[in-house]
Amino acid sequence: MISLYKHPVYAILKGTYKKELLRLIVLERKPSIRLRSYELLNLHLPPSHPISSALLDEISLLHSGNFGEQRVDHAIQHFSSNSFLIFQNAVFPFSGETIQIDHLCLTPFFALIIETKNMKGHLKLNKESGQMYREKDGKVQCFLHPVLQVERQQEGLEYLFTGIGCTLPIYKLVVFTHPEVFLQAEGTHPLLPPEICRFEQLTVRVRSLLREHNKSHLKECDLQELSQTLLNNMIPDRFYDVMKRFGLSQSDLASGVWCNECKQLSMKWLSLRWRCTLCKRTDNNAYKRSIEAYFRFISPALTNKEARQFLGVDSPDTMRRHLHSMNLKTVGNCRSRKYLSPFH
Ligand SMILES: [Zn+2]
Repeated sequence: MISLYKHPVYAILKGTYKKELLRLIVLERKPSIRLRSYELLNLHLPPSHPISSALLDEISLLHSGNFGEQRVDHAIQHFSSNSFLIFQNAVFPFSGETIQIDHLCLTPFFALIIETKNMKGHLKLNKESGQMYREKDGKVQCFLHPVLQVERQQEGLEYLFTGIGCTLPIYKLVVFTHPEVFLQAEGTHPLLPPEICRFEQLTVRVRSLLREHNKSHLKECDLQELSQTLLNNMIPDRFYDVMKRFGLSQSDLASGVWCNECKQLSMKWLSLRWRCTLCKRTDNNAYKRSIEAYFRFISPALTNKEARQFLGVDSPDTMRRHLHSMNLKTVGNCRSRKYLSPFH
């Protein structure tokens, strides 16, 4: 067991540890594939499409969520040490589905799940009904109570721990990161559940947990081993089926190559350059976004002809050069050659 005065957190308070020794982020947050898919879909969806406005709302929500997660990443990274390991956005299998944990901290004393919510406004939380409500623009929006959400993550992690013989206790926190949030408990319990806090309280809560739960269940080397086992059990965040999510088919998508300046599919291959037909701007990598969109939304394999139809290119030789420059894996030869998606 590590005594409190030798505890890394105590050392931070005393300023006796060098900061670089304390950085130990096992798994770093990567750009969200879901957000990337939504933004790419938005480029190929006509603005008049019935789901356009819902898609823009979801993009805005995901950006806001990312902002909250990054605030929490920054706040807790100061705790990181050989005995405080951090996973950012960890996804594990659980009961035929998955659990996604925004922040997972592993210490010799406990594991801590932190769920981040970057919602603003007046939120009413009712644990008995299992719901959270917000009034916005005269409408009531209803969400799953975040403690129930994080309890499912806890259950999934417990299941995983049991499977690998780990007896580390698991605690959980839900952090509301938006400065303009007002939290109110509803139902027979007048107080918010103890797992819920505002961003400003987060580091105090983590320090309290470390003070209150200082019985060591693991040695430092066992903690490293547990961390590696969890990494081996993780599901990589590689593909998100956005077409299924919104019930779309290929006929919903507009073909072409996007101009970042005009915000339209207005680029054409002209005089050996990808050039916008409206603003004349050139961007020789612009076609890669359209190829990615084809792979993500239409098919994980495409032929030269399919690529030409989607990008609006006439010459098979030009298209072949573009596809080769992307270093894609291929199957088949000559006319039957298919280029394979690196995203599946
Ligand atoms: Zn343009």
